[in-house]
Amino acid sequence: MLDMVNRSSSGSGKQSGPLRAPIPIADLHCDLLSYLASVDNADPASTEDIGCAIPFLRSGHVKLQVLAIYSGGGVNSARLTSCQCAWFRRLLKHYKHAFHRVDLPRTAPGSMWSSGTGIVAAIENASALCGDDEPVAEAFRRLRTIRNKLGSVFYISLTHHGENRFGGGNYTDTGLKDDGRILLDHINGEKIAIDLSHASDALAHGILDHIDNNKLDIPVIASHSNFRSVYDHKRNLPDEIARAIISRGGLIGMNFLRAFLHPDDPSSLIRHILYGIKIGGQDALSFGADFFHTRGHPDQSRVPFFFREHEHAGNYQSILRSLESELQTDRIEALASGNVVTFLQRLWTKKNGRGQGSRRHEAEPPCPRRGHQASGKSA
Ligand SMILES: [Zn+2]
Repeated sequence: MLDMVNRSSSGSGKQSGPLRAPIPIADLHCDLLSYLASVDNADPASTEDIGCAIPFLRSGHVKLQVLAIYSGGGVNSARLTSCQCAWFRRLLKHYKHAFHRVDLPRTAPGSMWSSGTGIVAAIENASALCGDDEPVAEAFRRLRTIRNKLGSVFYISLTHHGENRFGGGNYTDTGLKDDGRILLDHINGEKIAIDLSHASDALAHGILDHIDNNKLDIPVIASHSNFRSVYDHKRNLPDEIARAIISRGGLIGMNFLRAFLHPDDPSSLIRHILYGIKIGGQDALSFGADFFHTRGHPDQSRVPFFFREHEHAGNYQSILRSLESELQTDRIEALASGNVVTFLQRLWTKKNGRGQGSRRHEAEPPCPRRGHQASGKSA
């Protein structure tokens, strides 16, 4: 996979100069699965519906896309999780021209960048694994099932915006709960990162403390978050959390949503990136654009959700070019995909991981009946 450097314009990756060839992109977060599982007649190639549609991934040279399995909680959560898993497999089976699975131990070095987009699953909100009224052991069973069916799970976030049995999300002051500690203990050494993008500050600190106090082997990332020092928003990282992620060798994926960048300045994306480098995050910075189904979204006050310059994955190469006057080529390549590749190689080839768990097949409930047009996802 490290041959990505040889596909860039400058060869050595150490020079500064015009970006002539497309640079491979790795993106840490999108909601394609949530869209496909929730919207009637959803189509992964529909550029009208979602910014990470297949044509955009292709034109933006996106070579690795993390597909989040999202839950908003509630009674349909288990079925929605199952349906998103089914869509992940459907993408591999019926859209072979566009997608292939990336699962490093089984992905040949170098093949990742050859054609199409490599995909890997992640969990956005542990409610996707276990509802608040189920035994917590159900989370372990569903996680095992997902890994058996889809391969590696890149990361898990314990919450979304609100509070659940595991802890408090961005818009709460709630910290880490007992079930959150149990889930962290369960993924210790399992080669799964914990994602702080939707953690309240109290939850983020609780997770970091629990990992340190118990010497857990769990890498820490923020898959789709910017910096609160650049734009003050609860979805952005305060400096102490950003620095903790950086010092632990984690990743911080830049989010393209206008609400988290700046209300009216598209160049704020560059300011977030430069700030990340200023605080020492040159090896942590990456992309987590957060494309989701915006058409018919219930919160129309947020329209436009994205600035035109970042509204779909097809813009990735022009975004990199806009950084040329600010960053040397090796920094741009690291941001584009190099840091993610290095992180995954370290994570997935570790000798001390507890591996993939059992490969036993377990039955999942059927997909929920589709009854609404908008996914209702709110990034
Ligand atoms: Zn999100």
